[in-house]
Amino acid sequence: MPVLSIDEVTKRYPSVVAVDDVSFDVADGEFVSILGPSGSGKSTILRMIAGFETPTEGTIRIDGDRVDQLPPFERDVNMVFQNLALFPHLTVSENIEFGLKESGVPKAERKTRVEEMLEIVELTGYGDRASDELSGGEQQRVALARALVNRPKIVLFDEPLASLDRKLRQHMQKELQRIQNETGITFLYVTHDQEVALAVSDRMVLLNEGQIQQAGTAEEIYDRPSSEFVADFIGDVNAIPATVDSVDDDSMAVSVSGSPYTLSKIRTPDGNAVDAGDDVTLGVRPHEVDVRVPENGTAASFDGTVTNRVYTGEGTTYTIDTPVVEFTADVENAAFEIDDEVSVVWSDATVHVFPRGS
Ligand code: ADP
Repeated sequence: MPVLSIDEVTKRYPSVVAVDDVSFDVADGEFVSILGPSGSGKSTILRMIAGFETPTEGTIRIDGDRVDQLPPFERDVNMVFQNLALFPHLTVSENIEFGLKESGVPKAERKTRVEEMLEIVELTGYGDRASDELSGGEQQRVALARALVNRPKIVLFDEPLASLDRKLRQHMQKELQRIQNETGITFLYVTHDQEVALAVSDRMVLLNEGQIQQAGTAEEIYDRPSSEFVADFIGDVNAIPATVDSVDDDSMAVSVSGSPYTLSKIRTPDGNAVDAGDDVTLGVRPHEVDVRVPENGTAASFDGTVTNRVYTGEGTTYTIDTPVVEFTADVENAAFEIDDEVSVVWSDATVHVFPRGS
């Protein structure tokens, strides 16, 4: 049985549908991210799970029991906020112990559990420090310890690392994964940052305008994006506008800027068949694109001019201006200079075909 079941949940505010018929499950011990641009409904979903908001429609279950009408303290979940909300006048230990005290856990056990938590978040010896004397990263650890200490079924995170600098954020991402592994507690993590979601989670639920666009592992979503939006949000994509001329069982003839181009392999998202006459977008990932000296007669290619090159450490990212679109190409070689005339080339098998504007 999933530890969390969100079933056909909608949240309507007077002026906006913040969450629109959302359903997903989270398995016990999973680390799942809810990812999407600002305003896509991520925090509203989290707040409904925590009990700070009530769904307009739909049900939320934890371990099979319906919780969507229960007050927050009757739900076996804790939340870690971006502004950590530690009690500044309490010590580190007192902050962590607070919830246990409230729920009547005896003193000796409280002490053992707090020590255990300090060890897990690597703050052994910090117990007597004032919490307002800690660094940002240390405060994060205390907030996490406080959310874990009463062993909830699920810990909810609302962009807790967004305010940290890049290096500390990356370090805390690794720490979160380690701590989640060690405790086995289910983590549900909200972020607008695809890099964070890719780094920390087993699985992602990708939202836009209150609706789930796609759910799956990073690989599944990256390899088989369900729409133009998803392809662009998870990784980059070169989006080439085209019109479908004809479709066979395993090939498709399209026109790009009036020029014919035949795709011998078709990759369209599941359940999204395209027909002759449709406007589509051909999506090609920057690392699937090669840059060569101009060659005539290659079907899948555009001629253009190099307008930018950036050395990335692993290779070079070129920007190439063509009459159709501006291409981004991540390649290993660095043979070309700005203003060089080149051909942008890719293999049919790498092209995704999306309904235009999907
Ligand atoms: P995200 O977390 O993805 O940035 P939110 O869940 O905060 O998105 O918001 C989703 C939409 O719901 C936004 O359009 C936001 O303005 C709206 N919204 C959120 N909370 C409220 C509220 N309490 N009252 C009215 N509208 C709200």
